[in-house]
Amino acid sequence: MITLKSYLCGAWCEGNGGDASLVNPSNEEVIARCSTKGLDLQAALAYARDVGGPALRAMTFAERGALLKRMSSALHESREALVDASTLNNGATRGDAKFDVDGAIGTLAFYAKLGEKLGAEQGDRRFLLEGGGEPLTRAPRFCGYHVWTSRTGVALHINAFNFPAWGLAEKAACAILAGVPILTKPATSTALVAFKLVEVLVDKAAIPAGVLQLVCGSVGDLTDHLLPEDVIGFTGSANTGATLRRSRSVVERSTRINIEADSLNAAVLGEDVEAGSETWHLFIRHLATELTQKSGQKCTATRRIFVPRRHADAIQEALSERLAAIRVGDPSHEGIDMGPLATAQQLKDAQAGIELLQADGCRIVFGNTANPVGKGYFLSPILLRHDDAMTARAVHAHEVFGPVSTILPYDGAAQAPALVARGEGTLVCSIYSNDKGFLETVLLASATWTGRILLGSDKVADQTTTPGMVMPASIHGGPGRAGGGEVLGGERGLRFYMQRTAIQGDRSILDRLLGAPKRDDA
Ligand code: NAP
Repeated sequence: MITLKSYLCGAWCEGNGGDASLVNPSNEEVIARCSTKGLDLQAALAYARDVGGPALRAMTFAERGALLKRMSSALHESREALVDASTLNNGATRGDAKFDVDGAIGTLAFYAKLGEKLGAEQGDRRFLLEGGGEPLTRAPRFCGYHVWTSRTGVALHINAFNFPAWGLAEKAACAILAGVPILTKPATSTALVAFKLVEVLVDKAAIPAGVLQLVCGSVGDLTDHLLPEDVIGFTGSANTGATLRRSRSVVERSTRINIEADSLNAAVLGEDVEAGSETWHLFIRHLATELTQKSGQKCTATRRIFVPRRHADAIQEALSERLAAIRVGDPSHEGIDMGPLATAQQLKDAQAGIELLQADGCRIVFGNTANPVGKGYFLSPILLRHDDAMTARAVHAHEVFGPVSTILPYDGAAQAPALVARGEGTLVCSIYSNDKGFLETVLLASATWTGRILLGSDKVADQTTTPGMVMPASIHGGPGRAGGGEVLGGERGLRFYMQRTAIQGDRSILDRLLGAPKRDDA
């Protein structure tokens, strides 16, 4: 058993007592402990602001990109050890562990490249210009620019249990490229991967002092002590998100907060799609992956499956056939397709969530809630069905965070976006159709309620990523229940860590000061 230390103010340190236990969810054995009792976390915030921030802001975009490249390469070299840690602590199969770890490596590499590109465009400039100078009055010399400068505070990153590597990296990449140091906090129950990842980065990536700090364990009331220049990047449940929104810093000092929370993601099969077509098979493949990948513990997993009523039985049959082939068990053994849920609490919550859905008229049409292995926190894939999607309530309001999804037949294209909207804000909606008319009715009407739409159709059936896969070039986040936040999306992801300022004045002075590109009429 190991003790996970925190990395604060340039040193590894451990709390004194009140340890939390980390467990292997496949066999319930305790594998590690950690505590933050007695650690001076406020000093770590100050260290980031006073030491890490100035160091990062002195670097050009190209230099920050080079730092991200070193981070990505260091993790790549230690990939196998991180994958093993994910199997041990998250109960992830090798494929699921790679999804998290490779996602971290790839996202850092993506932002490293963006740093290189911004470096080539901006040269020594440490801020970003948004557009050109715009005339504000009739006077030709008086104009206005918009600039983005790095915030001078610290980014407190609080992550969920399900993506200890990618969750850390997707936030770190944007913050570092934007010039803001981070204090990152993984969920305590699965902190092993993040601990090992930061160990690697500290040893091998030559990160300037104060740029990256790690807290293993609870952060207590730390969010109440943040300043106006700081930011909170949070991923987790809607309940914790609501608590953080009420932090004194957010309420009284306008500390910026971004929330990535629960989501009742939807998949919609078009009325035009016939059984046996390319798009039909793509739909079934995607549903099976979303239900079982990471044992369904993905914020982007499909929870609601909307299908034309005439196809509901055939979809149920085809998906059940796929799920029947899934071998559930200890992911450290050969031939296992799906591991356990990450903690005893997750299993309990998932079982309670299924009961809640059943009490509201959903019936199980595949699987059951018994633990198929006995020991550990295992749950088989479960497919539910509710035949009256419009009157159903719980399925549109309660996220069961496990290998669980519900078939909901719909009647007529116009009903589909209305049903998507019942989720009150999702991270992703996937729509499968080759019919322009159907897409005209459904796509943009659904866009209002979701952060991302993946369109599956015949011609991209063998090219498309799964709806649950977050790509760094596209934004991730969603309105309403999904938290109302937005991260990633290439350069867009840097904005959260920067301040936009309008600058007005004499065009010739501002052009020179801001290094604005020469205009034709100048
Ligand atoms: P959680 O219980 O809300 O915990 C998330 C994080 O918040 C953990 O690091 C936790 O630390 C921390 N935390 C809890 N109370 C806090 C407080 N008062 N102040 C500061 N930090 C606090 O969520 P989870 O169980 O880890 O994750 C599952 C949920 O996350 C699901 O609902 C899922 O939909 C959502 N999720 C969303 C996304 C997304 O991108 N939208 C991605 C992944 C997961 P401790 O572990 O130390 O308590």
